[in-house]
Amino acid sequence: MKCRLLLSQTVRFDLCSTMTTLSQTKELFRRAEAVCFDVDSTVIREEGIDELAKFCGVGDAVTEMTRKAMGGSMTFKMALTERLSIIRCSREQVNKLITDHPPQLTPGIRELVDSLHQRNVKVFLISGGFRCIVEHVAAQLNIPQHHVYANRLKFYFNGEYAGFDESQPTAESGGKGKVISILKEQYGFKTVVMIGDGATDLEACPPASAFIGFGGNVVRQQVKERCSWYVTGFGELIEELEKI
Ligand SMILES: [Mg+2]
Repeated sequence: MKCRLLLSQTVRFDLCSTMTTLSQTKELFRRAEAVCFDVDSTVIREEGIDELAKFCGVGDAVTEMTRKAMGGSMTFKMALTERLSIIRCSREQVNKLITDHPPQLTPGIRELVDSLHQRNVKVFLISGGFRCIVEHVAAQLNIPQHHVYANRLKFYFNGEYAGFDESQPTAESGGKGKVISILKEQYGFKTVVMIGDGATDLEACPPASAFIGFGGNVVRQQVKERCSWYVTGFGELIEELEKI
């Protein structure tokens, strides 16, 4: 099972890196009907789960768990379960985090999203992070709440942590690609571009028509090497749109 998963990921990487050249990726971006953004370290400067862990006083333990998870043997869902079982945040803690330490938007993202909206391009946020935090980010960027795909934390009536909704596509490995397939089917989009910093974003292409790597907050070497267009600021994307 593990071998099959690794093999399919390798195939997907190869397809994505060989299917579109830099000029093709730029052209697909200029005429995209929908642009999907990863959130953590892309639209916002930090990783939401790390900020939540720090806020709940278990930052180091969760960083250690993230490091292990990135070593490769854990599925996305297992890693999320493990980390949340350390954090065990209450509803009140999540609300307080958003009020006291609101997510920091990456410079240029507001202008880029405005520019896409002005051109009637649909903008979506697809995150392995948490809906309650991502919705807050979406509101700041005038992205409708139904364009947000993220994981849902669950709480008991008294506000204590009760797990997360395991049925969301974003709770699975390969979940971002699954969301893009859903969007293509639901809206009939032919050209969808995914933008993000991480391997899970790169893996969403295909079904995404093209992938743009973003290294403005953190550079992930594997992603940088495998994508045909890698940018370190959103200004480059705005300039490209202005060529139309
Ligand atoms: Mg990210």
